[in-house]
Amino acid sequence: MCAQTSIHDTSHITYEGLLEGNKQFIANALDADPDFFTKLANGQNPPVLWIGCADSRVPANQITNTAPGEIFVHRNIANMVIHSDMNMLSVLDYAVNVLKVKHVIVTGHYGCGGVLAAMSNKQYGLIDNWLRHIKDVYRLHADELNAIADEKERGDRLVEFNVIENVYNLCKTTIVQSAWKNGQELGVHGWVYSLSTGKIGDMNVSTYNNENMDNVFKFK
Ligand SMILES: [Zn+2]
Repeated sequence: MCAQTSIHDTSHITYEGLLEGNKQFIANALDADPDFFTKLANGQNPPVLWIGCADSRVPANQITNTAPGEIFVHRNIANMVIHSDMNMLSVLDYAVNVLKVKHVIVTGHYGCGGVLAAMSNKQYGLIDNWLRHIKDVYRLHADELNAIADEKERGDRLVEFNVIENVYNLCKTTIVQSAWKNGQELGVHGWVYSLSTGKIGDMNVSTYNNENMDNVFKFK
C-alpha cells in the first residue's frame, strides 16, 4: 500500500532465502554474543512502544539502531491510533500497564502511501474506511493544506499533521489517561521519518501529562 513505486530490486528475495537469512542472523548474533538468545528468552523489558506505518521501508529497530528486546512495536497502515482498534489498544495496554514503557512514539514517514491515498479522491475499497480518519485530519487543517500548491509538499504536511493528531489520539485513550491520573511516568511523542535521507524529525509535540489537553478528555 505504502510503496507506490520502488526502484529497490527485491527479485532476489525468495521464501527459502528468508530461512537461509535466519541461519545467518543466528550465526551473526551468536558471534557477537554467545548468550544473545538465552538472555532474550528470559523476558523483555523494552522502555519504548513504537506505533509506526506498516511500510516495509520504516523498520523500527534498524532506523533507530536498536536490537531485539529494545522496542515494543505496533504497525498499521499510516501509523494510526483509532479509538475502537482493539489491536492497537491491546498493544498499548500491555506496553503501558505490564511492560511499563516510559515512552510511546508515533512515527510517520514522508511519502506515506496511506496518507497520499487519503488525500486523493480515488476509491480503493475496504481500506477507504481506515483512511477516512486521515481525511478528518485534512479537514481539521484544510485552510493550511489547501494553500499548499505543490502536491508532494501538501502530502508531506499532511503526514506531519497526521502524526500530531495521532499523538493527541493516544493522549485521549483510557490507557494513557489512566496512567497519567495514577502518576505513572509516561511520555508520548511524534516523529516523522524521511525515506530520502534516513533522518527522523521530531514534531515537538512531546507530552508527559494532561496540562495541554482539552478538558473534556481528561480523567480526574
Ligand atoms: Zn506509510
